[in-house]
Amino acid sequence: MKNLLVMKFGGTSMGSAERMRVAAALITREKKPVAVVVSAMSKVTDLLLDTLHRAELGDRAGVTANIQKLRARHTETIHELGLQTEAANAVEALVTEFERISKGVLMLGERPPRSVDEAIAIGEKLSSEILAHYIRQQGRPAQAVSGSDVIVTDAVFGNASPLMEPTRARCAERLLPLLEQDIIPIVTGFNGATSDGRPTTLGRGGSDFSASILAAALDAEELWIWTDVDGIMTADPRLVPDVAVLDEVTYAEAAELAYNGAKILHPRTLAPLVEKQIPVWSKNSFAPEKPGTKIVTHFDEPKGARAVTSMSNVALISMEPANAVLSGTRLMARALDALALANVEILVFTSSSYRQSFCFLIRKHDVNAAVEALELNLSLELSHGYLKPLEVDENVGLLAVVGEGMRGTPGLAGRVFTAISREQVNIIAIAQGSSELTIGIVVRLDHLDKAVRAVHQECELGKLASAALSEP
Ligand code: ADP
Ligand code: ASP
Ligand code: MG
Repeated sequence: MKNLLVMKFGGTSMGSAERMRVAAALITREKKPVAVVVSAMSKVTDLLLDTLHRAELGDRAGVTANIQKLRARHTETIHELGLQTEAANAVEALVTEFERISKGVLMLGERPPRSVDEAIAIGEKLSSEILAHYIRQQGRPAQAVSGSDVIVTDAVFGNASPLMEPTRARCAERLLPLLEQDIIPIVTGFNGATSDGRPTTLGRGGSDFSASILAAALDAEELWIWTDVDGIMTADPRLVPDVAVLDEVTYAEAAELAYNGAKILHPRTLAPLVEKQIPVWSKNSFAPEKPGTKIVTHFDEPKGARAVTSMSNVALISMEPANAVLSGTRLMARALDALALANVEILVFTSSSYRQSFCFLIRKHDVNAAVEALELNLSLELSHGYLKPLEVDENVGLLAVVGEGMRGTPGLAGRVFTAISREQVNIIAIAQGSSELTIGIVVRLDHLDKAVRAVHQECELGKLASAALSEP
């Protein structure tokens, strides 16, 4: 749709009555048509997941207390916004729905993935209902829409991927008529459904992804992601004191940053937008007058190292043949095949040709699935002593330096390594893809933060946020 803006409001930007008032004002001040995607109020998804966990363990009192918290938070917000019975009824119906699913989990003593996805989508349903009621109370037509009615996904519960063709058709059917009548759709982020209607979610932080899926499906002019910081920064502002906001980053840089742990964007956000080259802005809903960061397709002149990110929830798995009969290359092929079948994503992979050993970094929550798949696939080699037992090291973290202009910048890797070793931090593994967009470095977990600060300082990222990295 020509002129369409898709706006996404994150958890903090929806976190209270006051924040919802600001969100409503940012939406309704636009002259252009706006489709809105909302997250659950901050911490609500954690609360819902904790409730289901308690239900599985049979902690009835904990479940009841959490549900009471959920009800109180949203009821209070409604009162503070001056909303009437209709909104209260909508909230109560959703809380009751969550209660029903939690009771099911309590009875079963387990959490079927599909029920979890259905239950945790209720956080976004609550916030979208409240915001839609509030915008209507302000005199503008708005309607809450569930992501499950417009985003069609595969059946990977908890981490689903969109099927773009049916999603486009659903958006045309459900959202375009609203937009054409000047009704603002307030779509729940995070959730979708399979084509036969089973509820799914897109992974934690998935509302960014919902927004980019909808922006692509609706041919939006721009996507604005409203969050709680001034834009994409040279490092996580909670870790590094002197960060700077990047005025522009490319899709490729933003995707690398997100995949390597920058929480500001869900890792898969950019993928749906690349083909149509829809520009994205990351903006601060607490300071809307600030320009934010624009994510663009390319720079005319690459700008050197731009940012440093880190990931602490990772594990390093090492594998090594025990004798020369087993070829290292064949072993790698078998291991990668097993990991792919188990849906385990590899973040870093390095190998040594002499000992034919290799190691790879994965997310901590994938460790059990990965080890199970590898041990099953390689059970003969393990039991006959051709392969050494797998080593799993969870005491590691990943640091990544990202920037288009790192390509062909001699000396940069040397500076990064020197900065890290100056802090007495030992480097366990290094990976640089041939795109030279990212250098990934695995270090001990308790050294990760100081390594991030050292690299940020050495590359003068805070000072040179928008200029090229100068040669030493
Ligand atoms: P939202 O709820 O709006 O989606 P998130 O909490 O998911 O917001 O993401 C925003 C947070 O990401 C910021 O508050 C900041 O602490 C964190 N963050 C991590 N790395 C970066 C970075 N490089 N630039 C900006 N913010 C970052
Ligand atoms: N509410 C979901 C989460 O906390 C999705 C999101 O906020 O983007 O993961
Ligand atoms: Mg987020």
